[in-house]
Amino acid sequence: MELKDIKGIGLQLEKKLNNINIYNVEDLVEYYPFRYNFINITSIRKATENDNVTIKATIVDTPKVSYIKRNFNRLSFKAISEDIIMNVVIFNRAFLKTHLVIGKEVLLIGKYNSLKNAFTASDIKFNITENKIEPVYHLVEGLTNNNLIKLINESLKYNVYHDHIPNNYLLKYNFISKKEALNFIHFPKNVEEIKAAQLRLKYEELFEFMFKINYLKKINTKSKGIKRDISSESKQNFISNLPFTLTKDQLTAIDDIYNDLVRPTRMNRLVLGDVGSGKTIVATYAIYLNYLSGYQSALMAPTEILAEQHYKSLNKILEPFNIKIGLLTGSLKKKEKDLILEDLKNGDINLIIGTHALLSEGVNFHNLGLVVTDEQHRFGVGQRNTLRDKGITPDVLYLSATPIPRTYALTIYGDLDLSIIKTKPQGRLETITKVKSESEIKDVLYKMLEELKLNHQIYVVSPLIENNQELDLKSVFDLKEKLNLAFNNQVNIGILHGKLKNSEKEEIMQDFKTGKIKILISTTVIEVGIDVPNSTMIVIYNAERFGLATLHQLRGRVGRNSLQSYCFLISNKEIERLKVLEESNDGFYISEKDYELRGQGDLFGVRQSGDMSFKIANLKEDYQILLQTQKDSKEYLDSENYKNDDYYNQVIENISIIN
Ligand code: ADP
Ligand code: MG
Repeated sequence: MELKDIKGIGLQLEKKLNNINIYNVEDLVEYYPFRYNFINITSIRKATENDNVTIKATIVDTPKVSYIKRNFNRLSFKAISEDIIMNVVIFNRAFLKTHLVIGKEVLLIGKYNSLKNAFTASDIKFNITENKIEPVYHLVEGLTNNNLIKLINESLKYNVYHDHIPNNYLLKYNFISKKEALNFIHFPKNVEEIKAAQLRLKYEELFEFMFKINYLKKINTKSKGIKRDISSESKQNFISNLPFTLTKDQLTAIDDIYNDLVRPTRMNRLVLGDVGSGKTIVATYAIYLNYLSGYQSALMAPTEILAEQHYKSLNKILEPFNIKIGLLTGSLKKKEKDLILEDLKNGDINLIIGTHALLSEGVNFHNLGLVVTDEQHRFGVGQRNTLRDKGITPDVLYLSATPIPRTYALTIYGDLDLSIIKTKPQGRLETITKVKSESEIKDVLYKMLEELKLNHQIYVVSPLIENNQELDLKSVFDLKEKLNLAFNNQVNIGILHGKLKNSEKEEIMQDFKTGKIKILISTTVIEVGIDVPNSTMIVIYNAERFGLATLHQLRGRVGRNSLQSYCFLISNKEIERLKVLEESNDGFYISEKDYELRGQGDLFGVRQSGDMSFKIANLKEDYQILLQTQKDSKEYLDSENYKNDDYYNQVIENISIIN
């Protein structure tokens, strides 16, 4: 059912809903509240002076508004609750005056002082027949909680939903129906209803997730791979051509990869390592071995900027080995692109680097033997089967900086073999991190100046340009202006954001890499992977808007050589949470803390990756449910009952870009 079929949804509202990934009515009813307000109506006689209470009252005279000063007003009226007539005041709600008519019944939330017979309200609610438990949703600009309550309430009437829990598990656990669960989760009458609904919905979500993982595991263990003949000298040859010594964990990882590649089964490995731990070189080794055995490789990066960067650094590392590398990006002219595609098809290119567009139609390989995906996810919707259709089963290597504890990794990446890189390259200094309030910005500017004098470079991150839809460019340019003012227009400042054309982005990145741009103001586009070792400082504005794991990723942009680096988190809020980053440079520790402090936080984080962005499940809190669904979905898969289930057949059809 389409959104526009719901009363009250027009084009504008539809767009806003799209922004929070709601595209149809099913999505809307599955847009779950992230918490609840418990409205507990009490008797005015029981109200004590210091408690916040909610009482029912009827208005008995016309409210008066007085304007105290600019941006400050006071609304007062008399109301009766039970048989007590009291004076009510509320501040800065002058706009409520017209709604507060004599005889109207409302809920007053606030404090009652019986001696003065005065009620100081913090909020007034008009809809008193509504549930006493109010759902609270994540919002976007222009969409209020009340909008969502109304829309979801309306949508639930149509009974459009799916139920993805197979029948026998519904029975086994005696779950409530999906229909009930949806009604309970949005409009619960009591805590028991919330709990019953949550359990069922979480189970459903995790069941589907683990079903996919189990399916991948099953087909991967079955699938034949390429058996390669590679001499063990080639490893030494690769290592001795590197400009640095590999760390212990890097060495273990490349051994793992070597063993995978010479075995006749497919490699399906995840290299998990903190930012800056040096995963690229490990992947490069796999590409090198694959080349030696005569096959082509594809390296996929999440953004074009990263693809370009990989192109440049791999060209350097692989130079001694005569490997021909191609770069495929959206900014190529048609002619150039055709040429690359041609070379790829006839085998003249040994390694192709690009974004996920590499898996699109029209990209044909001569003999693809290895796919490396950097910082990416596994379930590519809409790109399904593109490789399978090409009749190949390449080895696969995933690189991820998402620092998750091993036990969780073993479950949610249960279909993959793991190589974990914990050791950092030698000679790295820990990045010194400081949380600063906006009023202390002078200290930060002073430190920036010091670093600039040393000819080092600086990142400045502002979340204000994060949103592609509602791009607040003004604030970025404001920031640039402020910095120009502070540095007397003597410093070359560049701006990088999502709305720029690829060619423009590339040019700015290039200028930053070569040191022409000294300060790069940017959105979180720089979060993943950018490697400019000469940058020694990162300043993050409105740091409270980010999860700790994201901040840690951002911080990972500096501290990439032997120079002392600095990270400044600018914020007036949530100082305690941010201080975790002052204490630690360990991604695993930080993600654990993030968990404790924010629930899911953005641990498995990489929210943009989609794989792990659950609607209701929380991998840590719901770990027991996760383990149960791991078992159950495997049983379901093995029983082959899913073959009679259209939905799970579809899940399998859509499952993977690589399998
Ligand atoms: P990430 O794991 O975050 O992708 P990179 O692979 O980009 O990290 O590596 C970060 C930087 O460290 C790069 O400049 C890389 O050349 C360098 N590097 C990688 N391994 C080592 C090592 N063993 N010793 C010194 N420098 C290294
Ligand atoms: Mg990387």
